[in-house]
Amino acid sequence: MSNQHNFHQHYDVIVIGGGHAGTEAALAAARMGCQTLLLTHNIETLGQMSCNPAIGGIGKGHLVKEIDALGGAMAIAADRAGIQFRTLNSSKGPAVRATRAQADRVLYRAAIREQLENHENLSLFQQACDDLVVENDRVIGVVTQMGLKFSAKTVVLTVGTFLGGQIHIGLDNYQGGRAGDPPANALAKRLRELPLRVDRLKTGTPPRVDAKTIDFSVMQEQPGDSPTPVFSFMGDGSDHPQQISCYITHTNEKTHDIIKGGLDRSPMYSGVIEGIGPRYCPSIEDKVMRFADKNSHQIFVEPEGLTTNEVYPNGISTSLPFDVQVQLVRSIKGFENAHITRPGYAIEYDYFDPRDLKQSLETKYIHGLFFAGQINGTTGYEEAGAQGLVAGLNAALQAQDKESWAPRRDQAYMGVLIDDLSTLGTKEPYRMFTSRAEYRLLLREDNADMRLTEQGRQLGLVDDARWARFSEKMEAIEQEQQRLRSLWIHKDHPAVDAVNEHVKTPITREVNGEDLLRRPEMTYAVMMSIPALGPGLTDQQAAEQVEIQTKYAGYIHRQQDEIAKQQRHENTKLPLDFDYKSIKGLSNEVVAKLNQHQPETVGKAARISGITPAAISMLLVHLKKQG
Ligand code: FAD
Repeated sequence: MSNQHNFHQHYDVIVIGGGHAGTEAALAAARMGCQTLLLTHNIETLGQMSCNPAIGGIGKGHLVKEIDALGGAMAIAADRAGIQFRTLNSSKGPAVRATRAQADRVLYRAAIREQLENHENLSLFQQACDDLVVENDRVIGVVTQMGLKFSAKTVVLTVGTFLGGQIHIGLDNYQGGRAGDPPANALAKRLRELPLRVDRLKTGTPPRVDAKTIDFSVMQEQPGDSPTPVFSFMGDGSDHPQQISCYITHTNEKTHDIIKGGLDRSPMYSGVIEGIGPRYCPSIEDKVMRFADKNSHQIFVEPEGLTTNEVYPNGISTSLPFDVQVQLVRSIKGFENAHITRPGYAIEYDYFDPRDLKQSLETKYIHGLFFAGQINGTTGYEEAGAQGLVAGLNAALQAQDKESWAPRRDQAYMGVLIDDLSTLGTKEPYRMFTSRAEYRLLLREDNADMRLTEQGRQLGLVDDARWARFSEKMEAIEQEQQRLRSLWIHKDHPAVDAVNEHVKTPITREVNGEDLLRRPEMTYAVMMSIPALGPGLTDQQAAEQVEIQTKYAGYIHRQQDEIAKQQRHENTKLPLDFDYKSIKGLSNEVVAKLNQHQPETVGKAARISGITPAAISMLLVHLKKQG
């Protein structure tokens, strides 16, 4: 530590920002035994959901389960706060099934705060961070708004939408980190002095409405699933609070006319907002303009919690002037007398080009400084939490003088997310989809623990209780698979009549339990309901694994073979700060792209758009020559 600085206290890891990225980062570093400080604007807003009160969904649910598999907080908090749970795509294959929970905001914040406050090695401190102390291209500490200095071996920055945050409602705009919170302007100014590429993005949120002024009787009710799905591999649903319904209504032509009439005062359409918004979460004005042939859009009317009357009309995010917001809301069926409790708004903020990050989420140019969450150009709590966990664990590894670690693309959606960001960058807020992963069949929600928990244990992220539960489950799966393999059913078997009632072609020659389960019309539950074959596993998670692994074995093995082939050059390192012009035969375009991206590995180079397999072969030949 430098002597010229008068540091108040020293930590191994300092995390700045107590949102979804920051809380996972701080908890991960603390779980790994690092003395960790979580420095945030306001302790009351730890784990605050800035936008929709929901966790999970397609692609996002996968991230939540992966965070959980590595001992993170999000799934446990969602289980304690979820007031309506559903499994999306439940009729489709297991790879694209996804868990989603409507969350009570207050319960969610409380569940996150409880985990933070009761964690050993973790201290909370409420102050804005205004400055970073950087010496010889290495971050060595941070300075708070009141001038307090804290030093650390590594620092993780997770400041969300707060950097130079500018809130827009119609043509009015003002500075803010999100509604009700100050922006982080001093820090934004400081970060712009660092050698990192910075740009602006925007996102938006709908007006909130008082449920007392809504007529739910004219809307379609949408109850949650029964039995209620569970997020955490450690959970069984017993900690879910009371479950309530969401409702569905729609915009109509009148709504769309009101929106079109207000566009001249829209900050987006009048050019006041320059940042690019989330393509997959567009504002209602964007939807009306982009899909001009549609005369109606769906709105999910989502409760914000069990102890509040506020509802979140999901689907009408807007930054139109407030008078237009009132009219458009009141034009919607069931909302004729609606009272808006909070106006919708858009926010523009600074984000940093994630191509300036290593796979560990450490910045390439300031050693010891890690970035996670919205600051890297992503959108969504789950994307933020996943990055937070990876940045936090790597900040801890570096503080402990250990090698960095990040999941691979074939190992986790987290790996896909980080690889996409650090290799390709993003020009618009990036959100996760299952379609972004090339090995979807392997990256399922149901097997996130099998993909990651053992690694998490080695890293020090997984505690004894989770490890014991995981080991028990693995053993149960193994034993049951063995039992099914040696369970032979022939035409004189006592179960054969019952089995034949459930299968298309009756059993004529001997089959074993696995072959029988592989038949499309057979399920594990049905098989185990037949007395001579059951009762089978009582552990539902283990039973689900036995069924999925048996039914999809062929596809799974094929994908594993593909990965093995791909892996051969995936991790072959490329030099950093290398001038690719020196490699003969590469086209000018390829040289320009490689020089711009400076990929860390051959695998990453191959994923840059415009980098051809021929160019990769030339790279490999060059590396071979270099020895
Ligand atoms: P945040 O959750 O924003 O947390 C940042 C934290 O850092 C806060 O606690 C803040 O107080 C703290 N902080 C900031 N600066 C400092 C500082 N200098 N010192 C100390 N602490 C600091 N996501 C979607 O998926 N879909 C959407 O439609 C969507 N719409 C959104 C609309 C709005 C208006 C906003 C604000 C967000 C929206 N989001 C949406 C994004 C979602 O809220 C974020 O992706 C997610 O919260 C990012 O998590 P994070 O941890 O990176 O940052």
